Amino acid sequence: MRNGGRLLLHVYECQWDKSHSPCGMHIEGDQASVTDHLARFHGFTGGEGETACLWDGCTSKKRSAMKGTSVARHLVTHIGYKIKCMACNVDYAREDACRRSHANARSDCQRMQLAPVHGTGVITLRVQTCEPPAKKRHFADA
Ligand SMILES: [Zn+2]
Ligand SMILES: [Zn+2]
Ligand SMILES: [Zn+2]
Repeated sequence: MRNGGRLLLHVYECQWDKSHSPCGMHIEGDQASVTDHLARFHGFTGGEGETACLWDGCTSKKRSAMKGTSVARHLVTHIGYKIKCMACNVDYAREDACRRSHANARSDCQRMQLAPVHGTGVITLRVQTCEPPAKKRHFADA
């Protein structure tokens, strides 16, 4: 989302295994970013086996026996990130769920307008999108 030459970035503090080995990083709330972050910074790549949710403060009943493949989806619910169709005012957990629902009931909402809905822990960063400052011209001392 561009905004006057700046990019707004919505991120969340990563709380995966925070009490033992916090990564101290911020991640975007969508499932793809979470999956990528877990793989790159926590060596967690899911898989079919059962695993535990290490998100700090997780109280899910499923936390100790989740399928590895569903962990990232589960973390998105911790983060609180959702997709909303602004046209019909309905929240979806994921963009594909929204698209699927609209494909099945196209008459309810003619023009799907997706917008991200951020969780309560969101941190909004403004990122300059312009190129790095040009090198200062070097003037020889007079
Ligand atoms: Zn992390
Ligand atoms: Zn959890
Ligand atoms: Zn809609």
